[in-house]
Amino acid sequence: MYCRNCGSQVDDNAVVCISCGVPPLKGSKHCQNCGKDVNEMSEVCVSCGVKLITQKATDNLSGKSEKDWTTTLILCIFLGAVGVHRFYTGHTVWGIVYILTFGGFFGIGPVIDLIMIISGNFKDSDGRLVTNK
Ligand SMILES: [Zn+2]
Ligand SMILES: [Zn+2]
Repeated sequence: MYCRNCGSQVDDNAVVCISCGVPPLKGSKHCQNCGKDVNEMSEVCVSCGVKLITQKATDNLSGKSEKDWTTTLILCIFLGAVGVHRFYTGHTVWGIVYILTFGGFFGIGPVIDLIMIISGNFKDSDGRLVTNK
């Protein structure tokens, strides 16, 4: 395939382009199939007709967590004192802290978490919102 940033040929499995140093699919200036110049906004290459692959590094940062909101809520209500909802959402260290501090700082932690979960502001360990929306 071709680097989408600079248009030079790169290995199909290349993590970074050896010519320009960015991930080959992160660019938007060239077609990954034929290497021709493409419009940065276009989704299909006008030279060869393939769908242009885009890989935005920020996609995962602001998105929605794949953790289930209802599960997180139920775990927090019934097992919140031992931090099970924290383990579930990847906050392993916090889960252990909850156990060691007699139910999350004597029960305060799980209550705050419960409010955060219900209001849709609870985040998993990757910083993505656990939401039912
Ligand atoms: Zn490149
Ligand atoms: Zn093309």
